[in-house]
Amino acid sequence: MPPNPKSKIQNPKWRDWRWQMQNRIHSVETLRQWIDPTDDELEAIEATKGIFRWNITPYYASLMDPDDPDCPIRRQVVPRMSEMAPDIVGVADPLEEEAHSPVKNLIHNYHDRVAFCVTAECAIYCRYCLRKRMVGDPAFFMKKDELEDALAYLAAHPEIRDVLLTGGDPLTFNEKHLDWLLSRLRAIPHIDVIRFGSRMPVKLPYRINDALCDLLSRYHPLWINTHFNHPRELTDDAAEAIDRLLRAGVPVGNQTVLLRGINDDVATMKALGEGLVRMRVRPYYLYQAQLIGGTASFRTSIEKGMEIMRALRGRTTGFALPEYILDTPFGKVPLNGTYVRGRAGDHVVMETYDGTLWAEPNPIPLDETRSFTLPEIPLPDGIATIPTGAATFVPVA
Ligand SMILES: *Cc1c(COP(=O)(O)O)cnc(C)c1O
Ligand code: SF4
Repeated sequence: MPPNPKSKIQNPKWRDWRWQMQNRIHSVETLRQWIDPTDDELEAIEATKGIFRWNITPYYASLMDPDDPDCPIRRQVVPRMSEMAPDIVGVADPLEEEAHSPVKNLIHNYHDRVAFCVTAECAIYCRYCLRKRMVGDPAFFMKKDELEDALAYLAAHPEIRDVLLTGGDPLTFNEKHLDWLLSRLRAIPHIDVIRFGSRMPVKLPYRINDALCDLLSRYHPLWINTHFNHPRELTDDAAEAIDRLLRAGVPVGNQTVLLRGINDDVATMKALGEGLVRMRVRPYYLYQAQLIGGTASFRTSIEKGMEIMRALRGRTTGFALPEYILDTPFGKVPLNGTYVRGRAGDHVVMETYDGTLWAEPNPIPLDETRSFTLPEIPLPDGIATIPTGAATFVPVA
């Protein structure tokens, strides 16, 4: 039996975000203070060494169910052997982000806006992370002169009016560094909106403190999109963090990843959307899980997501519903009847915003139950896609 976690939460430093960062869990000994790990989890912690990092804040660990290995919180952050199973992709960069990066970590894929990965640091390592390849990897950290190169690129491109600061997690920066970065961005006259992609309200809500909110409120218009995946993450501490952001004038949106066995059912999605709205967070996107090697066990069929969206429309508040999206190298595609043409065997064929055809490799999980089906169509000749095969994962030296 793991010891009673309540005693740890009473630590006087519990609400200090730096203490949380310094006391993150990344050894079996510290994990045992929260849960009684299963054999599969213990084996996976060893087997993923050197391949996939893991790290959990004590706050997020306190949300784990010590008695349920299928706990939706636990499954997001504790390694499992399913990550090491052969997958249809081994690609580390399915969205070709590096090819779309004119300078390091700055992804210029749309005409008028960019995603700028200002840091590779994150407070936790989600098992399904889109940027699994880069998060925590020193090669993706930005040195001062690399940040300067990116700022120079932004200044030289007047068509860029919207800058999304992401990572990793940009709110791992301290106030001084954020102040420097935001003041430099605000000195570029054509930058209109600045937005953050940060999971801090979910994994470390104490990061959203008064000092941070005072700082953010000086750089409007500034928006934040956070990343709640499950109603159990909607705690009082998270609600307080959101409230502080809203009082600082920062609109808060939410991006969820559709994760098999975690939130791929109507009741969970409905509770999540309604709980977010109660916290005055606007659901923005529901992402189809990306083809990142080692995350096959988290992926659903696209039909499953479409079925959930179909079941929710009309049955809850309109603005409690996100838009179901697949990110592709040709931009984000809404997964609905306007854009999705049909299923061609193991691929789903869709049209992007500018009319490009894309075939997403999306084999239907064998044990998935669904009632929704897409029309079967032939795979168009020469269509853009991600090459698939049998990929396995071995530690890097
Ligand atoms: C998602 C994304 C954006 C922002 O897209 P919106 O649909 O405006 O939220 C911008 N650049 C890149 C590269 C992205 O992946
Ligand atoms: S919080 Fe976001 S960037 Fe960090 S590991 Fe999770 S998904 Fe990746």
